[in-house]
Amino acid sequence: MKAEILAVGTEILIGDIVNTNAQFLSRRLFELGIDMYYQTVVGDNPSRLKEAIRLAFSRADLVIFSGGLGPTDDDLTKETVAEYFGVPLVLHEEIVDEIKQYLNGRYPMSNQKQAYIPEGEIIFHKNCGTAPGIILEKDGKIAVLLPGPPREIVPMFLESVEPYLKEKSDFVMESKVLRLFGIGEAKVGEVVSDLMEQSNPTVAPYAKDNEVTLRIAAKAKTSEEAEKLIQTAQIEIEARLGEYVYGYDEQDMVKTTAALLLEKGLTVACAESCTAGRLTAALGDVPGISAALCESVVTYSNEAKMKYLGVSAKTLEEHGAVSKETAEEMARGIQKTAGADVGVSVTGIAGPDGGTAEKPVGLVYIGVCYRGEVTVIRLQLHGNRDRVRQGAVMHGLNAIRKRILAK
Ligand code: ATP
Ligand code: MG
Repeated sequence: MKAEILAVGTEILIGDIVNTNAQFLSRRLFELGIDMYYQTVVGDNPSRLKEAIRLAFSRADLVIFSGGLGPTDDDLTKETVAEYFGVPLVLHEEIVDEIKQYLNGRYPMSNQKQAYIPEGEIIFHKNCGTAPGIILEKDGKIAVLLPGPPREIVPMFLESVEPYLKEKSDFVMESKVLRLFGIGEAKVGEVVSDLMEQSNPTVAPYAKDNEVTLRIAAKAKTSEEAEKLIQTAQIEIEARLGEYVYGYDEQDMVKTTAALLLEKGLTVACAESCTAGRLTAALGDVPGISAALCESVVTYSNEAKMKYLGVSAKTLEEHGAVSKETAEEMARGIQKTAGADVGVSVTGIAGPDGGTAEKPVGLVYIGVCYRGEVTVIRLQLHGNRDRVRQGAVMHGLNAIRKRILAK
């Protein structure tokens, strides 16, 4: 079955709201194993809506509409779809009653419009608004009409549409995301190019926020069969890129590192210069991290590095604040003063100014002191100030993770 999403609303077209309904629906359809090749947005305009409906049904069997089911005159979806299907709208008294109930007995005449439903159609129920959802089936074509507000469309889809579509679809889709760090998207693409050419399972890389993800997606008659296809591809990918794979699905770098600290019962403290607390803040996003994160300091000036971390004046003078030696003393200092198992330091040049030929913008040192033993990595990061700082955070977390795993 081929599906298409048609979101109706001028406010989406002009950028007033983001089309989160399309994102939600796409994800669900994907997981139901229903193919989708197009998504459309059209304004509240009858002739353009008509044209969009015609086009959508020319290339899809199932069109899911979002929006335009409300009581006002610019809500045209139901009327236009009914006209396209050639079915009249008839008043449903039980919907009138439901609307009255939803509105605590009030029944503005404008809502009467919502109680008109295309004749003979499947209506399903909800307690999340005044607009009923509608499924129209004719000549092998299916229209699913859903209201625009996310708090209405989401429960309505999950409770009423998904079971209906499951009946219609012969397939299930399963997917797994492999998360890689320390390798670029182009390189990943090169290494798995043969796998990217296959159609089931599909393997697709995406680059985002300093990491690369590889999504493996398989379609099969049963979940078990799909899982098997995924597993085979995963084994093949990890044989080639396993050293870069740090996590799966929603388990991002922050969660992975935090989970490792908590699982091993280790404590951590950070000394941050160019990231100004972002590394600590990232860890702080993880619930329960207080069992591992004991303290952190932000030390921008040389004085602060000496005062709170015991970095020596000589080191700062001879090597500078952004240097392997300073990163090493910062990590050692925070580990000791905090009495933590792991001390981690970040010092670097985030830019846009402050770079030199010898120490360019993007130069970052990260130190990790594990119970008195320090290792420092030198990075040359790219991009604007925000990207350099975000990159430093990711590398900091990864350095903690690798150090713990090496023990
Ligand atoms: P209502 O009864 O609220 O008028 P409706 O079905 O007519 O519902 P619209 O008028 O198209 O829906 O949209 C109502 C509101 O729902 C919008 O102002 C917007 O906040 C939200 N909305 C509509 N479409 C989308 C979408 N595609 N993604 C996210 N939000 C949306
Ligand atoms: Mg509306």
